[in-house]
Amino acid sequence: MNNPATPLLQLDSVETYYGPLRALSGVSLTVAEGTITVILGSNGAGKSTLLGTIMGVLDGQPHRGTITFRGQRIDGMATEKIVRAGISYVPEGRRVFPELTVSENLKVGAYTVRDRQSTRRTLERVHDYFPLLADRQTQPAGTLSGGEQQMLAIGRALMNEPELLLLDEPSLGLAPLLVRQVFDIVSQIRDEGVTVLLVEQNARMALKVADDGVVLESGELVVSGTAAELVDNDEVEELYMGAATTASEQEAASTASEREAQGGAQHDVDLES
Ligand code: ATP
Repeated sequence: MNNPATPLLQLDSVETYYGPLRALSGVSLTVAEGTITVILGSNGAGKSTLLGTIMGVLDGQPHRGTITFRGQRIDGMATEKIVRAGISYVPEGRRVFPELTVSENLKVGAYTVRDRQSTRRTLERVHDYFPLLADRQTQPAGTLSGGEQQMLAIGRALMNEPELLLLDEPSLGLAPLLVRQVFDIVSQIRDEGVTVLLVEQNARMALKVADDGVVLESGELVVSGTAAELVDNDEVEELYMGAATTASEQEAASTASEREAQGGAQHDVDLES
């Protein structure tokens, strides 16, 4: 899907501060419905701050600017209302409730949904995406591997039946095969109608599934365009896509990582490096 006209989310001149530190400056961004948009940038560029600002989790922020979701202003709204409006958020670091079982974690995610039948259907969908969550329903979430917890965190966010899913570094710390699985699922989620705004360090992989992308540098948006435009952008290539620059080098690198993933770990998802 390429750039359908309807903007689901729109940020206009957003500024966010931590005390005196301005972490976002004049950020304007449009996320089209039915797309995956990736936010790239180095450590400390403001990527997580951008997602936190959208979710209303940073006290009193944004300091300036507007955030509109489906035509409705959400800046300054309480996070719970933002969730009820249809935005789910998976923060960095797979925060699941460790003492609760897999099944209980998913139920917690559905707290905004009143229709039980709908919740049952969504649960089936989540189990289709992540069959291991169906297999481990009674297992305490804290005993899952990091990769499994990441899947649970995404599954829990989907239980809220969001129109927009914000994902902060879903591939962080995962082995290559699992990274690929997570991105496959993210693109399935998009194909089934959920718009995705994704923060990702793994630019090469993210740009393969994304429709659009932006680059943040020191709190400012310095590049925005389609994923194909970003792949062709020399600065993006140099800064975020590693050393393999020619098509054959890229192919070799991806074949090598595939081999490593296949040879290194055949079993389930306990694949963290
Ligand atoms: P990373 O990939 O390392 O998480 P990022 O692009 O997500 O980086 P942010 O975490 O959004 O970057 O940080 C943006 C800036 O805001 C950085 O300079 C960071 O040090 C600062 N910052 C982030 N959180 C806080 C906080 N709670 N208090 C003060 N400064 C913060």
